[in-house]
Amino acid sequence: MRFQQQVEKPPEVNLKIWACGSENCNGWMRDNFKSDENPDCPLCGHSMVEEEKTLPVLENFSAVHLKKE
Ligand SMILES: [Zn+2]
Repeated sequence: MRFQQQVEKPPEVNLKIWACGSENCNGWMRDNFKSDENPDCPLCGHSMVEEEKTLPVLENFSAVHLKKE
């Protein structure tokens, strides 16, 4: 019998993010990277919508992300 190795889950936080409103684009960014109150998507220029996302605290802090499908 094998013991399953216990993987510690990294701590997660609920963050406000901005997701691209376009159906054809998966771009999103953290609220603290937005350029103004109603940011446009840096990838396609579409307006973005406010969302909440649960992210690991230690995730790398690049400005633009792609949603994982
Ligand atoms: Zn976009």
